[in-house]
Amino acid sequence: MSETFQSIGVRSRTAEALTAAGYETPNPVQQDAIPQLLRGCDCVIDAPTGSGKTLAYVVPMVERLAGHGGHGARALILVPTRELATQVAGVIRKVDRGLRTAVLMGGVGYGAQLTLLRNAPDVIVACPGRLLDLAERGDARLGKIEYLVLDEADEMLDQGFAHDVERILGMCPVTGAHATRQSILASATMPEWVQQMIAKHLQHPVRVKGVQSQEPLLEHGMMAVRGDMKLKTLSRLLHRQRDLEQSQTIVFHRTKHGAKKLARDLLQLGHTAAELQGNLSQNARDRAISAFRKQDAEVLVATNVAARGIDVANVGLVVNYELPETPQWLTHRVGRTARNGAEGKAITFLSDQDAEQWRKLRKQGAPALPKLDGERLLEAGEWIMTETLDEPRNSRFSGPQSQQRRRPSRWQGRPFQSRDRRSHTTPS
Ligand code: AMP
Repeated sequence: MSETFQSIGVRSRTAEALTAAGYETPNPVQQDAIPQLLRGCDCVIDAPTGSGKTLAYVVPMVERLAGHGGHGARALILVPTRELATQVAGVIRKVDRGLRTAVLMGGVGYGAQLTLLRNAPDVIVACPGRLLDLAERGDARLGKIEYLVLDEADEMLDQGFAHDVERILGMCPVTGAHATRQSILASATMPEWVQQMIAKHLQHPVRVKGVQSQEPLLEHGMMAVRGDMKLKTLSRLLHRQRDLEQSQTIVFHRTKHGAKKLARDLLQLGHTAAELQGNLSQNARDRAISAFRKQDAEVLVATNVAARGIDVANVGLVVNYELPETPQWLTHRVGRTARNGAEGKAITFLSDQDAEQWRKLRKQGAPALPKLDGERLLEAGEWIMTETLDEPRNSRFSGPQSQQRRRPSRWQGRPFQSRDRRSHTTPS
């Protein structure tokens, strides 16, 4: 018999709110994590992108807090980006409207956030920099935190954030045998070095390891593209994606400046493109993500700022216009599609200029990617994968007439546009 939220220990009131929000039954990661978290265990949730980690930690939090307290924030959720903070707060609102949540992030004025803090929040969802700032000024008080989540944990504990995060953790009640604090680390990528941080910050943690479904839902191929042809190729792909698949695309660029220019170039080529990168004002970032969510923009051109956690239902294709810095970023970027049981595609462009970086990523553990026949895809809409050619060869630019050995994959002949996408719920 399949589990229900109630059968895994969730109160009927919360289960009803979940059903009303479209979450009928718990996903596998939720079935594993929720009972452990309800028992009060510390937990490491190491589950694939789009597998439902947010609810896996939000539901036990709602159960533990059991309504508005009014005596200071008892739960803290740290996330790396402002967009993710807003998204997580949206999920909390769906599960328990009675809880007061303060979302704290940089890039916007202090006024509204100070009001939220004075309004006795139960939960703080925050990016580390602004939270630390408000905590050091005495406006955000962390002395009563008893439920702590580091979402996208490997990024939160990575060098850019580690210092701030350590200081924030130092302001929360300690974890330990007699401690009241329950701590959760969640991410789709847990590199080796995170183990030390787990040992340092968590007490006998339970590990929940989500498994990939047997039928891979993500088809990810590498397309050889000359550097000066990337824009034209992307534009053709976008036309195909919009007209035939009727789904949206996220394109990742490495730099803020590059993302800005690419979005402008796509607009000039007639695409409805929104741009999301860290140089924009928060207003402009909000407008971009909202236009994309409302499907007013067919494509979101982004830096890694959109790579983690962002959940948009209709994303059928992710394009790595430029390679990311690490294999973990590759995982998170392509994880913006094929979420929660839906199918999705990802294409990583590889030009001569990218070859060195790709070799580096492979050495660091990036998976070998099958080669995608770009011409067949663009001309006939056929998604054909050939054997992996790990070391890029010069011959790869010779186009469809290339003499390279081709071993058709099991996708051969399956038209790009033929796949049905399963609908699923979005959190915001
Ligand atoms: P997450 O990995 O938390 O971003 O969740 C990925 C997607 O799965 C989001 O669109 C969620 O709304 C959706 N989702 C999570 N849990 C469930 C559930 N139990 N039933 C249906 N959809 C869910």
